[in-house]
Amino acid sequence: MKIDNIDVSEYPNSEKIYVKGNLPGVNVAMRKIRQYPTVKIENGKRVEYPNEDVVVYDTSGPYTDRNVEIDINRGLPRDRMQWVLDREDTEELPDITSDYGRMRRDCRELDAIRFPVAHRPRRAKEGHRVTQMYYARKGIVTPEMEYVAIRENAECAAKGIKSHITPEFVREEVAAGRAIIASNINHPEAEPMVIGSRFRCKLNTNIGNSALSSGIEEEVAKAVWSCYWGGDTLMDLSTGDNIHETREWIIRNCPVPMGTVPIYQALEKVNGRVQDLTWEIYRDTLIEQCEQGVDYFTIHAGVLREHAQLVEQRLTGCVSRGGSIMTQWCVLHNEESFLYTHFDEICEILNKFDVAVSLGDGMRPGSGHDANDRAQFLELEVLGELTRKAWEHDVQVIVEGPGHVPMHKIRENMEKQIKECDSAPFYTLGPITTDIAPGYDHITSAIGAAIISWLGTAMICYVTPKEHLALPTLSDVREGVIAYKIAAHAADLAKQFPGAEIRDNALSKARYEFRWKDQFNLSLDPERAKKYYLDARREAQDADDKFCTMCGPNFCAMRISQNIAEDCKSSAINSDND
Ligand code: SF4
Repeated sequence: MKIDNIDVSEYPNSEKIYVKGNLPGVNVAMRKIRQYPTVKIENGKRVEYPNEDVVVYDTSGPYTDRNVEIDINRGLPRDRMQWVLDREDTEELPDITSDYGRMRRDCRELDAIRFPVAHRPRRAKEGHRVTQMYYARKGIVTPEMEYVAIRENAECAAKGIKSHITPEFVREEVAAGRAIIASNINHPEAEPMVIGSRFRCKLNTNIGNSALSSGIEEEVAKAVWSCYWGGDTLMDLSTGDNIHETREWIIRNCPVPMGTVPIYQALEKVNGRVQDLTWEIYRDTLIEQCEQGVDYFTIHAGVLREHAQLVEQRLTGCVSRGGSIMTQWCVLHNEESFLYTHFDEICEILNKFDVAVSLGDGMRPGSGHDANDRAQFLELEVLGELTRKAWEHDVQVIVEGPGHVPMHKIRENMEKQIKECDSAPFYTLGPITTDIAPGYDHITSAIGAAIISWLGTAMICYVTPKEHLALPTLSDVREGVIAYKIAAHAADLAKQFPGAEIRDNALSKARYEFRWKDQFNLSLDPERAKKYYLDARREAQDADDKFCTMCGPNFCAMRISQNIAEDCKSSAINSDND
């Protein structure tokens, strides 16, 4: 298999750098953007003043490292495996232990689409827990913790900027449940990253096939593509054919933590008949995915039987797929949700692999009209209870949030989540702030995402322009990721995250000095910025580049400002000479 419809091999005028830590094997990947010098004419001579390189957080993995040979048929290097082995608390299993996983493996018809390399899964030794939260609570600073501390700081100390983020700080945050490092021991291809309100705001992208469109090749391409543009985690929400095989291809080639919603696959296993779902099928699905290397599961365990009647009072009912499935299951069986009643067992599975739980908001509002209603907040209270239960098992937790929320109702969401869930990281879908713009919901939701992440949300889940309309394409993924990079970075600036402003200041300086190439290269989407500039400039006949076509040469305020500065300088010199 090849992914030849996208180029993710490099960023313009950039190089991959690695910053070494103190613990063995800690080598943190970052991207260094080189800048051109500032050129001035002084006393009739051309003088160059160098501009410093800018180091930025990099989610692209080995794809942008020229020294790593990429072969998606073999998967990415499994660098983190040595740390797992060094801890000596896991064992390689002689075989896959999920029934479904074995069945897929033994089906010869699937050979044509199967990932070519089989890795035996690992699991905690009997009586052990292997989560980052477990180690953190024992006072152990793991290589993963040191890795994320270095990664978050992006070399800001070199610019004289102090940061509160140290490996010990990461450990404290993970131990307290305020941050997670999602890192399944069976996904050693992933580079560690941290999700917590005291760290950089992260963004998740969703990919996945459906019964109607998209195949394995396209989903792998979308996964790699979203990492290239800045996605920090990736959720595979596949509901179509060959979910197991699609997931294996994605995980083996994915440099960021990957999440799923296991109830989707469990439902596929019973041919979409909600009434046929059982705890046993769900349990086997969890184990199947733990052994493949999924880093976090969305589990809608907070949707209870008593919530079903509240759905009728809404304008848009229950819009979460997982929430609606479990609500229907409770009604059909007139029983409490098996996700809720078996939550302890779920946690005991997850802590054997270090899979984090993302507590799904099955009752999230599907319209501004339903925002902050009783169903939503009742569920949030249950999510608080489940958060504490997961922590008893040393399982790392994030809590999912809305949805569709007008701006004036956003703050209440954040404050209630912090109170009910004891500051476990909040992970919100947008929220979408108005419902009148189908086709532009990456914008309606990025507005809400920026506000809520400023207020403390740790990770925002992207929305593409196709939201509510169709499965996103590659270009939609790019649009969605960039919109959410803007929201996340705007929040980092507002929270005064150490060094967040370095890139902004460098770009602003380049803009003011008409260093167009640096302006493009420092931007989130260099290709688009360059194209827009050049398309317009092609019309211009002269070589003067000290303006753009927005205002033109005579009205370019930056150009006029520079002329004022020059004029002031010469009049100062003249008055000195008087
Ligand atoms: S022409 Fe206007 S928009 Fe363009 S660089 Fe000058 S001030 Fe900025």
